[in-house]
Amino acid sequence: MTTYTPMMQQYLAIKSEYEDAFLFYRLGDFYEMFFDDAINASQILEITLTGRDAGTKERIPMCGVPFHSAKGYIETLVSKGYKVAIAEQTEDPKQAKGVVKREVVQLITPGTIMEGKTIDGKSNHFIACAEELSNNTFALAYLDVSTGEATTAIVEGGTKALLQQLMAFTIRELVVTEQLQLLLAEQASNLGIVLSLEQEEVSEEKSAQYISNLPTELKGVARSLLQYVERTQMRSLSHIQEFTYTETKQLLRIDSNSKRNLELLESIRGGDQKGTLLWLLDETVTAMGGRKLKQWLHQPLATRSAIENRLAIVTDLLDEFFVRNELKDLLKNVYDLERLAGRVAFGNVGGRDLAQLRESLRQVPSIKEQLLNSGKSTLVGLGEKLDECADIEAFLSKAITDNPPIAIKEGDVIRGGYNDKLDELRFAARNGKDWIAQLEQKERELTGIKNLKIGYNRIFGYYIEITKSNIANADLSRYERKQTLANAERYITEELKEKEAIILNAEEQSLALEYDLFVELRDQLKAFIPRVQALASEISELDVYISFAVVSEKYRFVRPSFHEGRALKIVGGRHPVVEKMLNKQMYVPNDCVLPNDKNMMLITGPNMSGKSTYMRQVALIVVLAQMGCYVPADEAELPITDQIFTRIGAADDLVAGQSTFMVEMLESQNAITNATEKSLLLFDEIGRGTSTYDGMALAQSMMEYIHDKIGANTLFSTHYHELTALDEQLMRLQNVHVSATEKDGKVVFLHKVRQGAADKSYGVHVASLAEMPEEIIERARVLLEQFESKDQGVASVAATVLSEPAEDDEIQMSLFEEEAVVPLGADSESGSGLSEVELEVLER
Ligand code: ADP
Repeated sequence: MTTYTPMMQQYLAIKSEYEDAFLFYRLGDFYEMFFDDAINASQILEITLTGRDAGTKERIPMCGVPFHSAKGYIETLVSKGYKVAIAEQTEDPKQAKGVVKREVVQLITPGTIMEGKTIDGKSNHFIACAEELSNNTFALAYLDVSTGEATTAIVEGGTKALLQQLMAFTIRELVVTEQLQLLLAEQASNLGIVLSLEQEEVSEEKSAQYISNLPTELKGVARSLLQYVERTQMRSLSHIQEFTYTETKQLLRIDSNSKRNLELLESIRGGDQKGTLLWLLDETVTAMGGRKLKQWLHQPLATRSAIENRLAIVTDLLDEFFVRNELKDLLKNVYDLERLAGRVAFGNVGGRDLAQLRESLRQVPSIKEQLLNSGKSTLVGLGEKLDECADIEAFLSKAITDNPPIAIKEGDVIRGGYNDKLDELRFAARNGKDWIAQLEQKERELTGIKNLKIGYNRIFGYYIEITKSNIANADLSRYERKQTLANAERYITEELKEKEAIILNAEEQSLALEYDLFVELRDQLKAFIPRVQALASEISELDVYISFAVVSEKYRFVRPSFHEGRALKIVGGRHPVVEKMLNKQMYVPNDCVLPNDKNMMLITGPNMSGKSTYMRQVALIVVLAQMGCYVPADEAELPITDQIFTRIGAADDLVAGQSTFMVEMLESQNAITNATEKSLLLFDEIGRGTSTYDGMALAQSMMEYIHDKIGANTLFSTHYHELTALDEQLMRLQNVHVSATEKDGKVVFLHKVRQGAADKSYGVHVASLAEMPEEIIERARVLLEQFESKDQGVASVAATVLSEPAEDDEIQMSLFEEEAVVPLGADSESGSGLSEVELEVLER
């Protein structure tokens, strides 16, 4: 029988309910951990492991962290994927009979932590909950506890797609059923996602207001998530907003692989955001705007009216340079309203936070005025929607001092005049201090001791201090000695004692009252949360619109136009990120014209000529346009695209070989099974991970399938020259090539996309440039002709190959332009010879 002390018994009882968390057990000024928690935490946190008597024969392991520096330790644990349960003393130790009552007041988990370095201002911090709807489909709900944003999605494509979605939103914690936990455990832990179990019983009524807008199949998952958050945070979180659900058909869907391939939010090389579209686009000045921009980039729109609405606002902002600049300046003084509202709801808002809230609200009237006086209908519309929240600002101005300290127990948070009682107590305290100063003066005169002083310390309170050298000559009969120092004596008088009681009392009471008033005020503020959130949402959108306008102007973007058809026409399109990174060098703009009856493009050209950049730029223009931003082109007439699929090889694909080929096939399969006539497909170097004929055959059959069965706008790039002959068979296929030329025996890439297939003697040509013996060059020419004469159209090659074992002797594509070709797009340049751009490139 173990005979733990009563306190240890209490500890163990609490711990038994939080087996999967570190229990921080409050003991005076420390949070203590015991047993295994102590052993593990001491290692992770690198703190000393000690022991403690617990009533048993042996001491038990213990370690602790000071209460005031606990935040950092908690953050370290949570960032490593652990949970921390905070057990506080919930009664006044002075009043306690026996062991002080303790309760867990919050369970901090990777998905619900609200403070610290892990919370980046410009990123959302979501926790998610997933449930399986059917075999391959999951319901997903996610929630940012710090901002209160809550949304849902339906994810198709099995656990792989689910985990990808979680990674895309950098979700660290997923709430699941036990069954799903088993299914996901291994993959999740590899990805650093913490799985937490949902509760079996879910109360229906509490969550009703949050989920009323959701389709039935998503209600359950949202409810479970809410319940989990409430259970861990142990308070009602009034800032949590209604869960939203946007029908997928209203959004441009881009799977997470394609998002990565296109480097929308993260770069292929990983690491920071440099080189991503987000990096280029982010000119937002508020944290909320930064988060909104990311959300829009994750989910561009797919309804024409919604896109046009955004574009119209950008146009008006572009027209009004002055208004835009004023607005941007005003926004700079707006703090993170969403997270401030979150802190109000959570009850951890401080004086400084409220001053920030007030400062932010003070910008709103001017913002509104700028919008209303802009003379632009869309901006006036935004201005009219804006709630100035003047009453909230007035309330805060009346209650909170100009520069409150961060802590709320130090006083100086509540403004004078807000509360009569507080004013009185403050007056008494201040008055008392004046009185002390006067007393000091008076005592100096009475005793004739010039350096007599009145001081204060926490143990003895107020005292009169006289140095030893002065004591002998003074009349100290009225004084009572209190303390002797090396060279001075300290005294009190009856009078001083009385006043001291009044002063200290007044000070203590005033601080206590101030705290109560603050808490009361914080509760009153809760009623305003929805309005602050609505304001936050409008401000963040405005910030993004301004960012769009700034970027569009800075990089010379144009407004795209949309139509109901499928045809796509981009004139003078650019890859904005590559363009920005090419310092000094000139980016070569290219057209992309996909008429309805020729909406598949096969791009040939040597390596490094710009095929992949060209394809990506088309996709980026579509993404930007459907986000409601202008696009890097001279002209863009676009269809509404429903989905983008990409199969774009990363540089390391070449080395990685076979397994990469599998990835390629999986990505292709995903595209082919899910694409519709309204989708945009990019296939870069399809089939290159396998032997020539094998890859070529696959590439051809995929093209045929897309051509006949899907009809999506498609860009293919290939080094299988044979495929260019397919345009005879596939009516909607056009050939283009990226040109290169030579100068002084060196290949010069022109990056110019032109109509027609590339010439195939490129390899031989380069060999001759390298001064390979003439004999070899000649022989190669003959062989090439022979190969060509055997090659009676690709279809026949592929057909033969499929019945024969694949060969490995790849005929390296030879893509070189020797003849004059007709340039793509009518107004680009003259029909033959080099264009101005090319000449410029050559001259460098
Ligand atoms: P490919 O896919 O044909 O191998 P890439 O698209 O990867 O070639 O382009 C190779 C490099 O050429 C890019 O990294 C970029 O620096 C440059 N480049 C591509 N397109 C252009 C262009 N239109 N203008 C200027 N430079 C370009």
